[in-house]
Amino acid sequence: MRDLELDILKTGAAMKSLPGTCCEVDGCSTILTPYKGPGGDTYCRDHQMHLHEYGGFSKAQKPYTIGKTSVCEECGMDAAEHTSIAVIEDLIMKNRAIRMVITTDHIDGNHSNNSLENLSHICVVCHAVKTIISGDYLTSSTDATKPKSSPKKYKPRKKKITQ
Ligand SMILES: [Zn+2]
Ligand SMILES: [Zn+2]
Repeated sequence: MRDLELDILKTGAAMKSLPGTCCEVDGCSTILTPYKGPGGDTYCRDHQMHLHEYGGFSKAQKPYTIGKTSVCEECGMDAAEHTSIAVIEDLIMKNRAIRMVITTDHIDGNHSNNSLENLSHICVVCHAVKTIISGDYLTSSTDATKPKSSPKKYKPRKKKITQ
C-alpha cells in the first residue's frame, strides 16, 4: 500500500520555502517531514504516515482525520473485519470503504474545534446514535427547565413526473 514513489527527500531549497516548520496537527510540535508527497508541507513524518496515500485512513486536507484507524473508538467494531468490507480484495477500495464507515466526530459539535481531545473516530452507526441522542428534540418531557422543541415534520418531496 505504501507508495515508495512518494518518498522523495525534499531539497534544502524546498525546505526553506515552506511557510511553517512544525506539524499542523494539534499538540504536535515535531518539525515537518523531510519527505515530499501528500502532507509533505504540513505534517511531520509520523502524521504524514496516517494519510491514505501511505496506507492510513486520513486525508491531507482534513487534519482532524489524522489518527483515524479502522476501529470505532465507541463500540470497538473493526471496519476492516466487517463482513461486507473483509471480502473486498482491492486494498485501495477496501481502505476507501473503511474511511467512509469510520467517521470523525467533533465531540462538542463545533466543527472548527479540531483539538485532539475534541475528536473521536467512530463508526457510522455510533455516529447516528450519538446524533439522535444529542438531538434537542429528544429533550425529556419530564425536564421542565428545558423547552420542548417540536421536531420538524417530515414533508414528502413532490416528485416531478416527466412523460
Ligand atoms: Zn505531527
Ligand atoms: Zn461504533
